[in-house]
Amino acid sequence: MARPAILFDRDGTLIEDPGYLSRPEQVTWMDGTFDALRQFAAAGYRLLIITNQSGIGRGLYSEDDMARVHARLRDDLTKAGVTLDGIYHCPHTPEDGCACRKPDIALIAQAAAEHDLDLGRSWMIGDKCSDIAAGQAAGLRTVQVYGQANCTPAPDLRSASLTDAATLILKA
Ligand SMILES: [Zn+2]
Repeated sequence: MARPAILFDRDGTLIEDPGYLSRPEQVTWMDGTFDALRQFAAAGYRLLIITNQSGIGRGLYSEDDMARVHARLRDDLTKAGVTLDGIYHCPHTPEDGCACRKPDIALIAQAAAEHDLDLGRSWMIGDKCSDIAAGQAAGLRTVQVYGQANCTPAPDLRSASLTDAATLILKA
């Protein structure tokens, strides 16, 4: 039985985005993130991260550096009572022309196949227009948080925080 999911952008959505974040000690969670994730999990959604990490392709940090950051994320979430189902990343630069960098949808398709996700009942949440475009192209509904205005395509919903996004999605 396919399950719905919430797919999150990482930087600027779940955690603050200092630009090319590469070390665990740089992780600062956005206010309300743990509460929002607990609400989604309780409602039966799988929780996954879909993130562009072009800093790897640019040589600014390594896959191992990123793995240490993701270990911190999972550790913090476990302490907060939240289980993350998966983290998918694109290591490429825009110039690489890959199919996995948002707004392309290869990572979403991979996540859907590996976790048996029902994308028609799933949501993408992100701050950037590329998150919204990827989510819509993959057949998800979308919520833009904290984000850039005037995205094309426009998000289905906008919210000022993840807790607001949870409230909107859970009654949608
Ligand atoms: Zn890629």
